[in-house]
Amino acid sequence: MASRKEFFDELEGMSPEERERYQVEKLREALERAYQKAPYTRKVFERAGLKPSDIRTIKDLEKLPITRKGDIIEAQRADPPYGGFLMVPPEEVERVFITPGPIYGPHHTEKIDWFGKSFYAAGFRKGDVVINTATYHMSPAGILFHEGIRACGATAVPTGVGNTEAQVKTMLDLKVTGYAGMPSYLMTIIKKAEEMGYDFRRDFSLRRAWFTGEMLSPSLRKTFEEDYGISTFQCYAVTDLGGCVAYECEEKAGMHFMDEYVIEIVDPQTGRQLPPGEVGEIVATPLHNATWGLIRYGTGDLSSYVTEPCPCGRTSWRLTGIVGRATDAVKVRGMFVVAKQADQVFSEFEEISRYQMVIDRKGERDELLLRVELKDETVDKEELAKRLSERFPQVCRVRPDRIEFLPPGGIGEKEEKVIDKRRWE
Ligand SMILES: [Zn+2]
Repeated sequence: MASRKEFFDELEGMSPEERERYQVEKLREALERAYQKAPYTRKVFERAGLKPSDIRTIKDLEKLPITRKGDIIEAQRADPPYGGFLMVPPEEVERVFITPGPIYGPHHTEKIDWFGKSFYAAGFRKGDVVINTATYHMSPAGILFHEGIRACGATAVPTGVGNTEAQVKTMLDLKVTGYAGMPSYLMTIIKKAEEMGYDFRRDFSLRRAWFTGEMLSPSLRKTFEEDYGISTFQCYAVTDLGGCVAYECEEKAGMHFMDEYVIEIVDPQTGRQLPPGEVGEIVATPLHNATWGLIRYGTGDLSSYVTEPCPCGRTSWRLTGIVGRATDAVKVRGMFVVAKQADQVFSEFEEISRYQMVIDRKGERDELLLRVELKDETVDKEELAKRLSERFPQVCRVRPDRIEFLPPGGIGEKEEKVIDKRRWE
């Protein structure tokens, strides 16, 4: 148990009942605001035959369709530049971020600590000196992380992307204690410092690293923590929502949901909310954004969540980690099979060069065929099939029905890893 509950704000310690009351109240306001002020969102309601007053609970959100990145791009093309999501007069827009699409993301001057909570939970405080290696151009990352670091009282050093030698020198000269950016880039900096003849642990003051943008593998985390003495924290951020959606605390046992969003884990096909422990798409509705009227945004990322209390004292539910993209996932007998998880399984088998998962329907049952390209056809296929059919369900939670072996070159380089032959009429 944490000896003292130190939170960024009181929302983090709400009881489950308080949280539900708070979120439902803010949700109703957010939906009403978007309906009144964002023409795109009004159309979403109208097409669904609904009024904001029809959404009385978080469960009721299921009635509204999910809006995805492609929908925003299309809307902005049809109705430039903001696609009917802007809720303030254009002259009130403080800054506009540009993300691939392109998507133009306007920010107003509302005071939201988009990332402050996440940096705070990661232990950043006044006295820390933090290099921010995210880009300060176009994308919101650099500026918003910077504001998050400042919201905790720490000093931000806007080093931005690249110039690894200069990053190393800056870290030494300013006795930098914190890092913000991607895990792979921190490893690049450490390797560069070692190349330059330094002993990273002895010569540098870096003790804390805050990561987003790519997932942190358990082995890389172990290297940072054990070999280099750097405590690591992950944040799950979504650009089109403006910031951090979930963040790790000192317990590092899942990422706490931000109270500033309603976060749902849903079946990407039906939009239905899923119970704890089941893998589905992360869908989030911002509750405090007065500028950008986006509701029920489908991130395309797959995760599951847990509801057990966290020893840190924060009471929100937690994401268990990102397991893949919804477009790379396929539902087989009620379970999502994610290409990234399958990749993990197949990478353990040296005999296999490529694979394909083919899903078909036999009667009322989904059938999963694994097509496996061998590096060498003389391998003991029966023994390999046995090991593969044992290992695959341990990671992917679904048992393959058949395994088909192919000679080297049997699967083309450009072929899809997942082929869904089912037709839903
Ligand atoms: Zn916690």
